[in-house]
Parts: sequence; structure tokens; C-alpha cells
Amino acid sequence: MKLIDPYSRILNYLRISITDRCNLRCQYCSPRYQIPKLSHEDILSYEEILRLVRIGVELGISKVRITGGEPLVRKGVCEFIQALHQVDGIQDVSLTTNGVLLKDQVDALMGAGLHRINISLDTLKPEKFKKITGVDAFDQVWEGILKAYQGGLSPIKINTVALRHFNDNELEDIARLSFAYPFHFRFIEYMPIGNTEEGMASFLHTPEIKQRLTDRIGELIPVEHHLNDGPAERYRFEGAAGEVGFISAMSHHFCHTCNRLRLTASGQLRSCLLSDHQEDLKTPLRGGASDEALSAIFLKAARMKGVQHGLTADTPVRVSGQMSSIGG
Ligand code: SAM
Repeated sequence: MKLIDPYSRILNYLRISITDRCNLRCQYCSPRYQIPKLSHEDILSYEEILRLVRIGVELGISKVRITGGEPLVRKGVCEFIQALHQVDGIQDVSLTTNGVLLKDQVDALMGAGLHRINISLDTLKPEKFKKITGVDAFDQVWEGILKAYQGGLSPIKINTVALRHFNDNELEDIARLSFAYPFHFRFIEYMPIGNTEEGMASFLHTPEIKQRLTDRIGELIPVEHHLNDGPAERYRFEGAAGEVGFISAMSHHFCHTCNRLRLTASGQLRSCLLSDHQEDLKTPLRGGASDEALSAIFLKAARMKGVQHGLTADTPVRVSGQMSSIGG
């Protein structure tokens, strides 16, 4: 049996949130009130996650991404990455981080076999970074990015959530960095998830960003799409070392190509980032369930995957799960 949903999409990609804790409090991501953090016992242990990954591999999972919260705040992440690489059938392991702790961990991450990394960065201005994240750490993040680059991680993808009245006047500066660095700078549309300070008033859609970049920098030349690219539309400016990309979950959803399942830090399996439906893996896992019983839960999650998410820029319904616990 393989993870194939009712719409014939093959689900081979598992995104794993290893913690709901984060060392930043981004206004658009963290809830405006303090929600209780999961206790140590509530969070799946690495051994538990590895068992689920092995079961997922039997069902066709070949690619995993580690996310959070902030994955680099959890102890033992490098050993976990190494263990993931040793799971027969896992062909690709990647990590999404805010970069705050990256500088000191790049060497160990690479030693653990990590090749690819996504770093979230919404502004190039230290004061603004502090305003949005609550922490004065822009320089630390930038140093981490440069260290990852010098260390040879490739590709380095820089993810920027585009927010009107916040960083819309910087998108062009961020895109221009693609002339100097061979990174993939990707602009992500804001999604109404969780109870945060941002509203859809901040929403900035991809066509508007593309237009600005074209008017002010130059033609966006499409880059050939590869099977493993994920949902980003990829472009390059003439003469640039890197790329710019767009992830448009709201204005132009890409659900028909979605190959993902998400495992939350508390052991819930979600088949859509933008739906609150989830299947509990943790209770049976800790209750002594067999691999077959856990496989059946994976297969059920695949069957429950909707044809497409129900959010649009015009009629946004908020997803109540928090991005910080689902993992983005
Ligand atoms: N801490 C890690 C990081 O910062 O990359 C991983 C977790 S974070 C939830 C993953 C990504 O989700 C980040 O790039 C963040 O900017 C993005 N994100 C959070 N809330 C979002 C929202 N409402 N809409 C779009 N992207 C969001």
C-alpha cells in the first residue's frame, strides 16, 4: 500500500515539526496571547519520530523536512538528522530555520549530512527585524546565512513572507541580492493561520510583487521547473547569480501538485497545512500499536486529504492550528 490520496496524488514528502518552541516571536506567526507550550512528554521523542518515518518510508515517503517552532532550539537535532539519513529509503533531508542559531551549528549540521537549508528572513533592516520578531538578531542570522554559504550548503533558500506595510518596500532590495549571492530568494504569500496580530490587510499577492520587481529590476526569466522543486515558481534576472521565486498559496494555490503530509511536534498527522483536520498518531504509538495499525493511520490521513484548501484571498477563513506548532 502506498500513500496515494483520492485525487491520485502520490504523497512522498513528510514535513516534521520537532518542537513547538521558537526563539523568535514573529507577529504574523506566533499567537498574540501566550499559548501553553507542549511539555517535554507531549513532544514526540526522536526515537518515536524515527519509527514513524520508517513506517512512512514503507508507504512511499522518501523526502523529509525538519521544521518547528525553531528546530535548532531542540537538543540533539544533528544526531536526529544523521539518523534520518540512515533510514533506508530516505533520499532527501532538509531543514527550515530562522537562522538565529545557525552560525554555531552549520558545521555540525553539515557533518550530519545536511545539504539543503531554508532560512526565513523577512527584512534586511536590523531594527525592523527586531520589531517583527521581538529579538535583535538580524546580524546573527545574516552571519549564519553567510557561514552556511561558505560551508557549501546548496541551494540556500531564503524565505520571505511578503507583508503589505511591513516589508513591501524591501522586496526589491531582497530580490537584488540574487545578483550577488547564488541563493534562491522566495516570496511567500501570507496565510491566515492561527491567532496572530496580522490580518488579511497585510496580504500582498504574487502578481503585484512580480510586477514591482519587473518594473524596478528587470525581466523575470523563468527557470525550468524540476519534479522535486515544490510549489515555488522560479525565475532569474539576467546576469544574476541566484534566483527569485514565488510561493502563492492564496492567489494561485498549487494543491493539485501537493505531495505533503505534516507531522506535528505533538504527534498529529495533517494532510493539509490549511485545514484543521488531523489524525492522532501519538496516542496509539504510545499505547503499543503495531506498525500495521500506525500505517493504517497514515493511509487514513492520505484518504482525508482534500482536493484543495478552502482559503482564498477574498474569503479567508482562518485555520485555527498555529503555524508555530504545525511547522509551515
Ligand atoms: N522557525 C523556522 C523558520 O522560521 O523557518 C521554521 C518554522 S516557521 C513556522 C516556517 C515558515 O513559516 C517561516 O518561513 C515563516 O515565515 C512561515 N510562516 C509563518 N507564519 C506564516 C503565515 N501566516 N503565512 C505564511 N508563512 C508563514
